[in-house]
Amino acid sequence: MNNIEKLGVDIGGVIIENHNVSADTSFMSKNFLSTPATADAFIELKRLNEGRFKDRVFLVSKCGPSVQSKTRKWLKHNNFYEITGISEDKVHFCLERIEKAEISHSLGLTAFVDDRLEILGYLKHLSDLFLFKPQEAEVEENREHLPLVTVVNSWAELGTLLNR
Ligand SMILES: [Mg+2]
Repeated sequence: MNNIEKLGVDIGGVIIENHNVSADTSFMSKNFLSTPATADAFIELKRLNEGRFKDRVFLVSKCGPSVQSKTRKWLKHNNFYEITGISEDKVHFCLERIEKAEISHSLGLTAFVDDRLEILGYLKHLSDLFLFKPQEAEVEENREHLPLVTVVNSWAELGTLLNR
């Protein structure tokens, strides 16, 4: 029973583009509903949720109450649930980065995708860790965790690795 594969996916910087904070459509601006999704995120998540991780794809995001509410609105506005088939009850939020470890443990996740190496460092107990489009400075600060992870730079690349 314990070998059922479950995928956890971060939202900011993985599903929602957040690297360009100065853009008009930054998630921190009033135009946050127009912040773009990361290229191919929805289509690859749909494939993973229909395929290898059949209805066992979870979104796990660390953010405060205001960003939680914006994130829920963004997901709905962009038809995330309809397009991917991932249901709203699979979305989990926490206030501290380290809490992603508790959530991963209680959900029984086996794989995780995050754009922060620090967070993947808390998830050492999972079988597969993917560092998505990382930022160089953050990697430098958390370099000791780098041997634990597979670095990917696009959803297409991640999809290929996970849909094996
Ligand atoms: Mg993130």
